[in-house]
Amino acid sequence: MSRIRLLPEILASQVAAGEVIERPASVVKELVENSIDARARKIEVSVRRGGISLIRVVDDGCGMDRDDALLSLERHATSKIRTADDLAAIATLGFRGEALPSIASVSRFRLTTREADAVAGTEIIVAGGKIETVRDGGEAPGTQIEVRSIFYNLPARRKFLRSENTESRNLEHQLHLQATGHPGIAFAFVRDERVVFQLPPAPSLLDRIRDLHGKELVDRLLAVEERSDAAIQIRGLIGRAGVSRQTRAQQLVFVNGRSVENPVLTAALREGYHTALMKGQFPVTFLFIDLDPAAVDVNVHPAKREVRFRDPNAVREAIVETIRRALESGRREWQQQFRAPVLSGTAGPGPIFSSPAIPPRAESPIPAATGARLPVLDTTEAESLSSPTTLPLRHVAPETPTTSGSRWDNQPEVSSPHSQQFQIIGVLSKLYVLMENQDGLVLVDQHAAHERILFEELRRRMEEQGVPSQRLLLSQTFELAPRDAEWVERNAATLQKMGIGIEPFGPNAFKIDSLPTFLEVSDPVTFMRKVIDGLKSASNGSSAMRLGEEMIAKTVCRHAVKANDPLRYLEVEKLIMDLLQCDLPYCCPHGRPTMIQISLAELEKKFGRKV
Ligand code: ADP
Ligand code: MG
Repeated sequence: MSRIRLLPEILASQVAAGEVIERPASVVKELVENSIDARARKIEVSVRRGGISLIRVVDDGCGMDRDDALLSLERHATSKIRTADDLAAIATLGFRGEALPSIASVSRFRLTTREADAVAGTEIIVAGGKIETVRDGGEAPGTQIEVRSIFYNLPARRKFLRSENTESRNLEHQLHLQATGHPGIAFAFVRDERVVFQLPPAPSLLDRIRDLHGKELVDRLLAVEERSDAAIQIRGLIGRAGVSRQTRAQQLVFVNGRSVENPVLTAALREGYHTALMKGQFPVTFLFIDLDPAAVDVNVHPAKREVRFRDPNAVREAIVETIRRALESGRREWQQQFRAPVLSGTAGPGPIFSSPAIPPRAESPIPAATGARLPVLDTTEAESLSSPTTLPLRHVAPETPTTSGSRWDNQPEVSSPHSQQFQIIGVLSKLYVLMENQDGLVLVDQHAAHERILFEELRRRMEEQGVPSQRLLLSQTFELAPRDAEWVERNAATLQKMGIGIEPFGPNAFKIDSLPTFLEVSDPVTFMRKVIDGLKSASNGSSAMRLGEEMIAKTVCRHAVKANDPLRYLEVEKLIMDLLQCDLPYCCPHGRPTMIQISLAELEKKFGRKV
């Protein structure tokens, strides 16, 4: 007796819908992708109750004639691929021919469509996969699809829907992805009869991002240098050093125009940012990667959310390199701004670090609206600058601690070898350096600043001759688990460069006889175990240099910096100068900000001078 049978067509579509259509946002994704593939210039999406009661997508694309409209509802019916060769090089967003029949099988569905030159269009009404009506209809050229009561015929699926708010957020995120991926197309989004956004066709990605997220975000982005002649082309915008988010919501990567998730991409972004990103935070990226369609497989996920690269390493390297360069350019830009030849005229007496090129204050009337410019940051965000520098490893211990919150008066004017100018007001709570610049108040976290300076100094030394190390009075031996032992052996050279003298001492046993001079550890063995624990997860697949950086970042904070050390005026000045010479002055090695700007505009708002 045969027990196997073919599924009825509708049931097969419902099964397929299980993969393709998870929630209202998936319907929006599929319909908008179809509109984009139909070369629409304008796409309007309206939803009611988080898309659960209604999703309507209207486009002005190419439309369909009656035969095609009927065919579009058949499973595996598509106009986008014909042969297996087409599948190997897909240029459209859709290709599976599954979306429309899947959606129509789990909802009350209505499609009206008309080609531009046709006398009449077509209207098709479907309920739970069964075609109920086919007739003339459709006024404007293009296609309109309405999806009502999603999963009305599948109560089990319906139960998996989240609250209207959550579904709405998912759906809006999906639209953001599509609108970012296609700045040239006008998008409108209406939720429960209210217009949420209306985006005109934008001349550039930057304009689209500004329309979607506002000017403030745009100011915190850097354009990446385009790789246009390479096999892997990259363009787009990324957050400056220190700009980060708690979720992945603004970590957008498009591969051949398709918004995708892929572990290779995520890891490459992290590596590109490295210490410019706070732990547990996500970068802000709007990156577009274009490569030969044959070099990327998009047919690995039913909802086409994931891709597989033929050469993941090449993709990773291209991204890491692009991000590093962009952060570097941000740093140069920043440095230039800081060196703008400006004067301070608003403040009362106080120290000024002035360029030798600028006449002393007493002799010249000083124009208003001046002071060195720092780009505006907020409490969570920061940016970058650089230039190689030599620094002392430690700041001299203070002899005359300053009082908390005090202002230094009658300080001599200090000429610096750099042409930077800023005015130090004082130190708050023995920790925060207060400075004035053209935009208002700058707060520097002395501790974080010190960490960044030490980090870069140690990294430089590691690259050059190795970190100075100090012999232990008594060398110590210890045993490690086989995997850890293997790790130590593999990374012995890096550990040596880091000033850690460790060598094999029998099977899985080691002897440690020196440590970096700057460390103050009472128990070298415990310290070593911690280092190994912390680093072995980080070291998978990364270079020795990366590993070294990671190690410095991890040890610098805990062992090398004393917080709340009151510094003398000259030391504070030095600290700030040193910080400004760092590669990434705006964040500590863990990505936390070192400086915060509070603009005059913000102060005016707080004091109610301006609303
Ligand atoms: P796919 O997009 O994978 O081809 P779909 O089920 O999403 O499969 O759509 C089936 C076909 O219907 C498409 O290939 C396309 O020819 C047509 N179609 C769907 N939506 C539209 C639209 N908005 N405008 C014009 N044609 C459309
Ligand atoms: Mg499609």
